[in-house]
Amino acid sequence: MSTAYLGLGSNQGDRLAFLRAAVSGLAGEDGVTVVATSSVYRSEPVGFTGQLEFLNAVVVVDTGLSPRDLLELVQRIEDSNGRRRRRRWGPRTLDVDILLIDGVEVDETGLTVPHPRLTERRFVLEPMLEVAPDASLPDGTPLREVRDGIGNGHAVRMEGGL
Ligand code: ATP
Ligand code: CA
Ligand code: CA
Repeated sequence: MSTAYLGLGSNQGDRLAFLRAAVSGLAGEDGVTVVATSSVYRSEPVGFTGQLEFLNAVVVVDTGLSPRDLLELVQRIEDSNGRRRRRRWGPRTLDVDILLIDGVEVDETGLTVPHPRLTERRFVLEPMLEVAPDASLPDGTPLREVRDGIGNGHAVRMEGGL
């Protein structure tokens, strides 16, 4: 069993409904237990301008799935929520990233854990720290320290519950 931290994002359609659908999709899966969900945060889109703001949240799950199988599962949940794989960082109904898995490091084609951009993104670090204030990177660096180090670049406002 391991504990995995998943980052949810949506900036297209009924964004809150897509985040909630991701949580129920995960909860309905054999071998996956949802143990915590963060509040919902708003953030400016990264990559292309002229898109809706993102809603972001973090979900903590306990699972016996391998990192690969977990990636397959979250991609299946994205697909069943209208995700179209077009350009990277373009608008999307639902994005589910594997941010961190306790005690696990993966660096393979198509799967890197911890997520390579976790440490640059305030909109991920804030919800992550809400559900796991003592989380740290595999090298022991507390995420709180990482968050404090990136300053106020991207404004993140809290929206409410999931
Ligand atoms: P970013 O990765 O910068 O957040 P994105 O979420 O928009 O961008 P996607 O198009 O959703 O990127 O995913 C591109 C590929 O990233 C996926 O097909 C997947 O194979 C790969 N990937 C690598 N590591 C991870 C991870 N930790 N979680 C989710 N996908 C990952
Ligand atoms: Ca992403
Ligand atoms: Ca993704």
